[in-house]
Amino acid sequence: MAAVTKLGGGRMIRSVNRGLILAALEASSQSRADIAKSTGLNKATVSSQVAELIEAGLVVETGIGPAELGRKPLLLELDGGAAYAAGVALAPRSFRLTIRDLAGKERLARDCSLPAPPSAETAVEAIGAALDRALAELPRPRYGLAGLGLSVPGVVEAEGGMVLRATSLGWEGVSVREPLARRCGCPVWVGNDAKLAAAAERIAGGRGKCEEELLCLIVGEGIGLGAYLGGELYAGPRGYFGEAGHLPFVAGGRPCSCGNRGCWAAYASETALAADLAAALGESAPLPFERIVELGSGPDPRVGACLSDYAGALAGGIAGLVNLFSPNALVLASELLEALPRLFAELRDRVAAQAMDFNRGCELRLSALGRRAPAIGAALAARDRFIEAAIEDPGRLGSRSAP
Ligand SMILES: [Zn+2]
Repeated sequence: MAAVTKLGGGRMIRSVNRGLILAALEASSQSRADIAKSTGLNKATVSSQVAELIEAGLVVETGIGPAELGRKPLLLELDGGAAYAAGVALAPRSFRLTIRDLAGKERLARDCSLPAPPSAETAVEAIGAALDRALAELPRPRYGLAGLGLSVPGVVEAEGGMVLRATSLGWEGVSVREPLARRCGCPVWVGNDAKLAAAAERIAGGRGKCEEELLCLIVGEGIGLGAYLGGELYAGPRGYFGEAGHLPFVAGGRPCSCGNRGCWAAYASETALAADLAAALGESAPLPFERIVELGSGPDPRVGACLSDYAGALAGGIAGLVNLFSPNALVLASELLEALPRLFAELRDRVAAQAMDFNRGCELRLSALGRRAPAIGAALAARDRFIEAAIEDPGRLGSRSAP
């Protein structure tokens, strides 16, 4: 809510209050009395703010809730038909597009291929074209497309949206926000994939409540960490928090894409496993994902030994994170662990054995959103910025139009 702090006096308080009400409605449809109870705001404030939100077209009255002291209250919810937000998660050879409405409901999702590794220009054009096609298939919401969030597997500058380094894409110092905003005709926000996955996991992960302390670890071609600490998504002062894959793991060990040696990702990423399996089987090229899954479900003892080493390397780093942050839950977004339940079970046992005894209550679970999490987080980020702007200046909404 950085924009809100720039406002003064009563206007700031009204904006904060509206933000609280919108956050309450994100969780479920509620009556005015429910909102007053969950936000701690008084009923008169809730009523006047809700009237303004209805006027702005962000909130609608829907249905009738259970009777309380004889009178049945009207339920309120975010108006899904007001606007869409798009989320795109970039990967080296593909991207996932999701379009969600203001209420957070998914209207469309699809995977699109990219030439590998994609240039920024290629990625911008492919995303723009996929977005055009997707929007043409959907009914137009009142305020059109509110914005687009882009998830990048790499280090992203928090303020300017510059991709400082995304090794798997071959991007270094790439400015993608402005060209994408021009191509798509809407505001664009760029973020790191693990942070966006953590945001998605916390809001849309199906737990029905927001967890105050939550770590989300994305394990794929690299390893990234997103962390909610004290209820806030932690980014660090420059936004670079979360490069867990480059934790020094083995002194003087394997070379890493960052230029150092012995980083955790050089042992515990899927890239490392693909290379280790190829070496164990005497093959010259790293094994593709589908083949790893196929072999991982089979009886070959060489594969079993390799997977066991991999579980050990992954567990070592995870136990370290659990001891460091002592979170309630650590969520793993990993296609491989999803596909190989035996491997996940071994990992969980090893983490339980290695974490310090007072941290063993930390729940280690697979993401309910899986590989969809970064795109969902990106769409939620774009939606939240639209809502923030609407709170700050409701007059803007009337002039919005679809690209
Ligand atoms: Zn490294």
